[in-house]
Amino acid sequence: MTPASPQRPAFHEFLARHRHFLLTTHVNPDGDGLGSEVALALWLQAQGKTVRVLNDSVVPTAYVFLTQDQQMEVFEPELAEQRFADADALIVLDTSNRQRIGRLSPLLDRHAIPVAVVDHHVSHAHGFGHVNVIEPEASATGEILYDLIREAGGTLTPAIAEALYIALMTDTGSFRFSNTDSHAHRMAAELLALGLDPQRLHAQVHSHASAARLRFFGEVLSGLELHDGGRVVVLEAGPEQFQRHGLQGSDTEGLVDMPRNIAGVDAVALFSEVEPGKVKVSLRSTGRVAIDQVCSRLGGGGHIHAAGVLLRGTRAEARARIVPEVERLIAELPAATDGLASSAHAGAAPDAAARPGARARGGAA
Ligand code: 5GP
Ligand code: MN
Repeated sequence: MTPASPQRPAFHEFLARHRHFLLTTHVNPDGDGLGSEVALALWLQAQGKTVRVLNDSVVPTAYVFLTQDQQMEVFEPELAEQRFADADALIVLDTSNRQRIGRLSPLLDRHAIPVAVVDHHVSHAHGFGHVNVIEPEASATGEILYDLIREAGGTLTPAIAEALYIALMTDTGSFRFSNTDSHAHRMAAELLALGLDPQRLHAQVHSHASAARLRFFGEVLSGLELHDGGRVVVLEAGPEQFQRHGLQGSDTEGLVDMPRNIAGVDAVALFSEVEPGKVKVSLRSTGRVAIDQVCSRLGGGGHIHAAGVLLRGTRAEARARIVPEVERLIAELPAATDGLASSAHAGAAPDAAARPGARARGGAA
């Protein structure tokens, strides 16, 4: 069970105090960000509140099914001004970093709107809201919402249950990353008991791959490089590849996780340059090293075992800033845990080795 944030009561009061809510999540939203928005919107609407959802980015195809009954608006300057003016309060889900809400962020300077943040990322753990429910031990933001809804005596309708299940399923890598714990499974069990079909939900999210995307994965994976005696995997994708296959940045989802299965690998770094000069770094650890610091030092963030950052410059420059840092972390590992390298698997390594006192986290986003 996630230790409850001391700000949970303040969050319930925040909900009670306001009537017209605007919800948002991070740029390039994932199943947790979108599932959390949909679940919270439905729950607030059931209480007679009005809710608008406005994001920086469009809903990826894989999640359109989830948002069919909830209008998900995409940032347009005038629309955003209107939505901020109409709302009594803003709730930011699945990020506690102001920059991560993208083009909505500057509006916070112009509108004196009360803000609540609900998130589970370790970076920016203080939050930028007036109320911040930030619980880094939670598998997903959806898991925190599940607790909040139940502690408020709310009803988990099938639609709310579905949205929360998608949040939990996607952020735990279908219950296989190291952030999967008994609370996550109990939550899943309760949601499934409400009549959800896990096979259908899994297929809805994961059966959208195009042949072009698999060819692109094949191409990038065949260029896989092993460094540091096989402990670090580096993958690169350039603008020409994205263009030739007709793909965008969000199409790399899942790619960086694949080399985590290679025996002996401690970390995987993917450098995707979708547009020339903008390199999205995705970093994963198989459990022994805490790689979030590497990204947060450069202005990004994430979880202990899954983090990212957007860097300007060439891929070679990005690699030069990231790879030596990761190798340094590996070199600093105590010799006693060294034997684990050959048996490390995605998200399955022991907690204590990653960071004393912190529970291991998986590839959650
Ligand atoms: P991914 O590599 O799948 O894009 O992201 C892995 C994790 O790192 C997610 O939790 C995501 O929210 C976080 N993350 C990715 N890119 C950034 C970034 O540019 N800034 C911050 N703060 N977090 C990021
Ligand atoms: Mn998340």
